[in-house]
Amino acid sequence: MPKCATHKPAMEKIISRRHFLALGGFALAAGVLGGKRSLASAGENIPGKKGGFEMIPLPYGYEALEPYIDTETMHLHYDKHYAAYTKNLNGALEKFPELQAKTIEQLLGNIAVLPEPIRETVRNNGGGYYNHGLFWRIMGPQGGSPEGALAAAILETFGGVAELKKALLGAAASVFGSGWAWLVVKNGKLEITTTPNQDSPLMGDLAKKAGEPILGIDVWEHAYYLKYKNERAKYLDSWWNTVNWKTVGNLYRAFPSKT
Ligand code: MN
Repeated sequence: MPKCATHKPAMEKIISRRHFLALGGFALAAGVLGGKRSLASAGENIPGKKGGFEMIPLPYGYEALEPYIDTETMHLHYDKHYAAYTKNLNGALEKFPELQAKTIEQLLGNIAVLPEPIRETVRNNGGGYYNHGLFWRIMGPQGGSPEGALAAAILETFGGVAELKKALLGAAASVFGSGWAWLVVKNGKLEITTTPNQDSPLMGDLAKKAGEPILGIDVWEHAYYLKYKNERAKYLDSWWNTVNWKTVGNLYRAFPSKT
């Protein structure tokens, strides 16, 4: 079994946040934790704190997505890959204090005008930080299916959940090399898109189509190769069972009015 290399530091970070709140960050906390931003955000930056971007805690155990996603893959994916994106993002921002107060969404949304020396690093690692922060949250062991406004939008746009699954997983299967497939909200409508590498739909002109991502599928080989080897289609079909439709529905409700 792999060691949980960053599990303890992750817990320490949670504790440090509690310290931060106890020390009087109430105005900021209200903004970060209380409104739509906390719902929409796939990562948290604490301005003024060294290495300000924090890994979001995994909302379930490493084993919780078995048998669809195996425990060892979850360990490697969260403890190693996600940790590295987070560390490298924070490292890139070290010499740019004016950027350290930005949210990850602000950084990615302005990627084209970031300082040239760190633009590619933030693109790759900030993208990785955000994409995985969303990915952990839109998975879960509870199963279920889309409900309410999201279910209605899926019916209107795709004709039903089965059709959405076919189109989204088809897009994911078609990504050449490493990348992501997304369900995004754009102009109040659901759309499917893909991005290469760790690019995010939030990056606007860098992505094929900009939009607010509410569901993302990681098709990097590190997401599935241990269990599924080269059979990406098998991984995708299995992965579909892990979607946390409650969270996806909450994200959908947070976006249509403003995008
Ligand atoms: Mn990944």
